[in-house]
Amino acid sequence: MKFLADRMLGRLSSWLRILGYDTLSANSFAGLSNAAEDTFMLQLSGSEERALLTKDIQLHTRARQKCGIPSLLVREGDVLCQLNQVRQQYGLVFPKELEPVRCSVCNGTLELVSTEDILRSHEINKLRTKGVDIEKFIHRYAHFYKCSQCSKIFWNGQHWRNMVNKTRHLSEGH
Ligand SMILES: [Zn+2]
Repeated sequence: MKFLADRMLGRLSSWLRILGYDTLSANSFAGLSNAAEDTFMLQLSGSEERALLTKDIQLHTRARQKCGIPSLLVREGDVLCQLNQVRQQYGLVFPKELEPVRCSVCNGTLELVSTEDILRSHEINKLRTKGVDIEKFIHRYAHFYKCSQCSKIFWNGQHWRNMVNKTRHLSEGH
């Protein structure tokens, strides 16, 4: 299942990516007027078979009625509520274990990277300047991933684990 989300759903896009879903965000489209952006989103949804996620009722109606695109009108609420809405609408089964496959920032695919690459990365340099014991850090997380598009480095930190735990509760119907 692939998605395309409007500008109001940036956080939802990041969460879907962390859960492994190919999710484009209108936040990455530049230089289009509002009307042109809506048309572009409909074309992209159609040509790449992406379900449209939007808070804009006009765009939602246009997608469904004129273009036959499986659009979801996302309700107000926190990101977990929105995620649950997407899950129910499309019958998604969220992964039980964390398996980083997509960059939460740009939707690029993630690859495992070597310790040498990690040691040279901007992210590790930042931690180093904060006084973090890098050897311990690398040992602790063991697996590091690099985005094939934006080169950002990711690891299985507490933040991701918390997110996956929360979505697990959704899937169990709590
Ligand atoms: Zn990226």
